[in-house]
Order: sequence, then C-alpha cells, then structure tokens
Amino acid sequence: MAEALRDRIERLLPRVSKPARYTGGEWNAVVKDHSKVDLKVAWTFPDAYEVGMSHLGSLIMYHQINRRADACCERAYAPWTDMEAAMRAEGIPLFTLESWTPVSEFDIIAFPLLYELTYTNLLTCLDLAGVPLFAAERTEAHPLVIAGGPCAFNCEPLAPFLDVAVLGDGEEVIHQILDAYKAWRDGGRKDRRELLRRLASITGCYVPGFYAVTYNPDGTIKEYRPTEPGVPAVVDRATVKDLDAIDFPTRPVVPNTQIVFDRAQVEVFRGCTRGCRFCHAGYISRPVRERSPELVQKLAREMVRNTGYSELSLVSLSTADYTDVQSTVGRLSDELQCQGVNVTLPSTRVDAFSVAVADAVSKVRKGSITLAPEGGSARIRRVINKTVSDRDIRDAMRAAFRSGYRAVKLYFILGLPTETDADLEAIAEKGHWALEIAEEELGRQEARKVRVTISVSVFVPKPHTPFQFEPQVTLAEARRRQQYIKRFLKDRRIEYKYHEADVSHIEALLSLGDRRVANAILRAWQMGARFDGWNEHFDYNLWLRACEEAGVDIAFYTYRKKGYGERFAWDHLSPGLSREWLIDDHRRAMAEVEVEDCRWENCDLCGVCMSYNVLPTLKPAGFVGEDELAVTDSAG
Ligand code: SF4
Repeated sequence: MAEALRDRIERLLPRVSKPARYTGGEWNAVVKDHSKVDLKVAWTFPDAYEVGMSHLGSLIMYHQINRRADACCERAYAPWTDMEAAMRAEGIPLFTLESWTPVSEFDIIAFPLLYELTYTNLLTCLDLAGVPLFAAERTEAHPLVIAGGPCAFNCEPLAPFLDVAVLGDGEEVIHQILDAYKAWRDGGRKDRRELLRRLASITGCYVPGFYAVTYNPDGTIKEYRPTEPGVPAVVDRATVKDLDAIDFPTRPVVPNTQIVFDRAQVEVFRGCTRGCRFCHAGYISRPVRERSPELVQKLAREMVRNTGYSELSLVSLSTADYTDVQSTVGRLSDELQCQGVNVTLPSTRVDAFSVAVADAVSKVRKGSITLAPEGGSARIRRVINKTVSDRDIRDAMRAAFRSGYRAVKLYFILGLPTETDADLEAIAEKGHWALEIAEEELGRQEARKVRVTISVSVFVPKPHTPFQFEPQVTLAEARRRQQYIKRFLKDRRIEYKYHEADVSHIEALLSLGDRRVANAILRAWQMGARFDGWNEHFDYNLWLRACEEAGVDIAFYTYRKKGYGERFAWDHLSPGLSREWLIDDHRRAMAEVEVEDCRWENCDLCGVCMSYNVLPTLKPAGFVGEDELAVTDSAG
C-alpha cells in the first residue's frame, strides 16, 4: 500500500514547486516497522515543510515519541497549494514523509499550533487525510485529533475540530496520553467518549466537547460549564519542572532542502519572567527553568556531531538572560569554532551586555545584530514593561558598531495601548540615533556603509496577558500610523519595513475569538483560504466575506475594550496566572509602572508557581569539562 502510494506521489513531484518538501528520506529521520509498534502518531505541522522543520518543539516531540519502543512518530506537513491541487486531482491522501503512509491510518494526528494563521491549513490537512473536520462526527475508526503549542491556550476558535487540546509542556504529558490511548485500545476500543474521558483526567488535556458555553444578550460569554462528570471547570497546564531531567533530541532530522532556520538548536531555558505585557509566550510559560551549562555544552557537542550543522543556536525566549551566559556561550563558541561552527543567539536583549554576548559568540561570521526595543519612547516602554532606557538603546548601538557590526535591525510594535504620535516619532528617531552613533564611532566615511532596518509590527492583544483587556487599533488607524512613522525616516541608509495591518487584524480575531469564530474559519477555508500567514496567499477580503457569511462580527472581538469582569473564551484554559494579578498589572501599565523580573528580584505573586508547585530554576555558573559532568545544584 505504502509503496503504491509512494509511486503515485513521486509522479506528482515534477509538477510542483519545491518537491523536496514531500520526499522525506532525511538524515536522522526515524523509520520504524509499523508492525512492531503499538501506537502510531502523525505529527502534522499545519504549515510548509520549511517552517515546520524549523520548529524546535516539533523536533522535541518527535524524539519523545520515537524514543518509546512501542510507538512511532512520523511527520506530515500542509502541502503547498500546487501540491494540494495535484493531490486532490489524483485522489492522494495526506501522507507521512517517513513511510508514505496515509495520515488517516495513524492512531493519533497531532497538530502543533504556533500561529493562528495556520488554522485553515489544519482544516486542509484533516480534509486531505479523509478525517471528518468536526470532532463530533469522528468514530472509533478515526484517529484521535489533538493539538498543542501556544495557541492551545485559546483554542476555542478551533474547538469543534479538535478532540483534545494539550496545554503546556509536552514532554511528559505526551507519554500519559499515549499510555491512556493504549489502555483504552487494549480494553477493546469500544467507546470514543470513554477515551476522551480518560484523556480529560490528565493534567494539561482539554476536551472541548465536554464543555458547553452560553452567552449574554450583548454577545459576551456568560458561562463555560463542563458537561461531563468529573471534568475540571478549569484545565491546568502541564509543566516540566526540571529541564535537565527531560530527554532532549541531539539527533534531529536534518532537512535535504533549505528551511527557515537551518541550524542545530539547543534550548537553554524555558519561560521568561521579564513581564513584557504584550508577550503571550512569556505569560504562558512561566517561571524560568534553565538547563545546566554542563548539559547545554554536552547537548551542543552531540548535536553538532550528529548533524554536521555549521551553525548552532542557543534558543529560549531571551538567551542573553541565561545565567552566566557570557562564559557559557563564550566557551562553547571557542570550542566549536575549531570545527567551523558558528554559535548564535537568536533573540537579543537591548543593552551593551547583550551585544557583548553576541560578539563573544560570533567568532566565525559577524552578521547584523537585532535589537528589539519594541516601544519607541521611554514612556511607552514603561507601559509595556520593556525595562529598557534610552541610554540602554544608545549603549547597545554603540557597542554593536564598536564590535564590528555594520547592520542593525530594530524591532518595534505599533498600536500599543496608550500610544500617541509622539511615541511613533520616537520609533523613527531610533533609526537616526543609530546613524549618529555610527558616525561618532566609525567616522563619516565608514558610517556610510551602515545599514539600519526599522521593522514595525501591529500590536495584537493576546489572551492571558495584562493586555487581554485592550482593543487592537482599527485597520485604518494602523495604516495611518505606519505612514506617519515613514514621514520621519529621512535617510536612505534606513530601511523601513512594516507588517500588513490586515493580517494582524485577522490574527487578533483568531487570538481573541471564541467558539463562534469556528464558523468563520470553516467558511474562509471553504472559500479557499490557505497559508494565511504567507503574504502571497493572505486575502483579507476573503476573510471579511467569510466572517459576514458566518455571522461573525470582527470588530466585536478585536476593537472592543473589555471590562475586568468579562468572562473570556480562554478563562477555563489556565497557564496558572491569577486574574487579579493580570488586572493589577494592567492597572500598573496604564499608570506606566514597571515590574521587576522575579527570577532575580522578589516574587510578584502572579500565581503560577503556587498553582503548579514549581519554582524559577536558575543554574549557577560551574561550567565544567566533559569528564567532570557533575550537574550543579539549582538555586531558586
Ligand atoms: S509566582 Fe512569583 S516567582 Fe513564580 S512566576 Fe509568578 S512572579 Fe515569578
């Protein structure tokens, strides 16, 4: 069967763009004999191969499942539109790259949800797999459809399509899910509802079908109520307490073709407590849990040995915050540069220290440096709790030019709460600062070579953040502000990039939506929405029509300021933060009051550590050689 399907797929490949997306056979791919495993999981990334292959979480989960002798995990990706058309024309189902097996033959289809604009691709994948789109229409004969990742913390717009959503860290909970599935099947695989009941009892597992929602006359949510006995009113997230105790993949699949982040990746810590008030990732992954430097070094060595990559990235939400980062990455860089391997830190804090860290690791090649002040003025940075002063920004720029960088990328967000035109002018001003500092440091001649990029995205209010109560600026106003900044950028050495505001508007709808938005997603998909996160495919007018036909009022979800007492679609999906704390922090934002980082300063009682009996875990210095791999104690 698989061979026959393979032949049919191969015949399509000359007709589609980037056929390497569909061939599999990559270095380190795990191919198991299906007859020798009890459980088969199709890890189905709802975006293109090159995006999915860059996702560290997918590599981690692929490894976690495949390390079990009784299970196999194979990968599938959303086919590009030309491939989808060819597959539909030939009646070819969605298949996995490892064994060319139809996804419908797997026990579980697992979708990582990283970005709301992949939701229509999720429907494409289910449809191409021949699996009913609606969970209510699936029977015991169909695979279990689960989804995890950051968007799971408000998966309500996808609720009718999902059997289970998994909240939080996946490494431990996936084994509980597989064990529960196995036990259910060994018991005769009789009742799908019984399987869902078992899964709903696992911390981190949310079964949308077990909850009923009612609405107030004004359209706001009145209540979420469990409809199944024993199902929790609020679903807690799964939390890994000690990253050192968790197996990390050092033999990841190496693609045969160019992908977005084509490098080895080692995760140095999880979580971030800096408290940037717009940042969804920071709030759903608290507190900070570090891997020990010894383990990071060991993993990095193995990773390079097993993959042959010439670039190793130390990843986290803000790697420059890693305890003793300078000596850790400096030593790693010294060691790996002999092998021609460049060590990189993808996210860079805005201060001279972080530039020094970036400098310490960029021994092989020195490209551009990225700084993310996020807000143009010191005032707006206080509102968003980006604890960076104007002086920090200037010092970082100065350090970057002194270190040999000639290109600086500056990231900002437009439309932040309380933003005024003066805050926008301050964004443009930062570009001119960079050029002035370049001239001071390098002289006029050399400064002519400097390139500055100002990149501006549109603020999307996110669930579970202090800004969840805030509206998004209207589309017209976002566009006005984009053009307003442009008026103040006067030098050709400054490149100005801004994200399409209409894309951010639909992102806000899908971020803040409830179950009623599912109809708009379905309608948009039926009307042809695919790869909405890609500019060449995104069609705002299609989404407007879909919303209209589905009776979904986008403004209700996106442009409305919400009261502190309003019940949200995500209130029963808990990352552990207390509502009172989010309200307090929103008030602090409006008063331009900053909050310190609890990993170094006092606990601010956001609630996460108490909810999940977990503590911030910083691994102190004590970087030792390979033969002294005594992992040092963690300090709270
Ligand atoms: S409970 Fe305290 S220590 Fe834990 S993440 Fe929240 S503020 Fe930080």
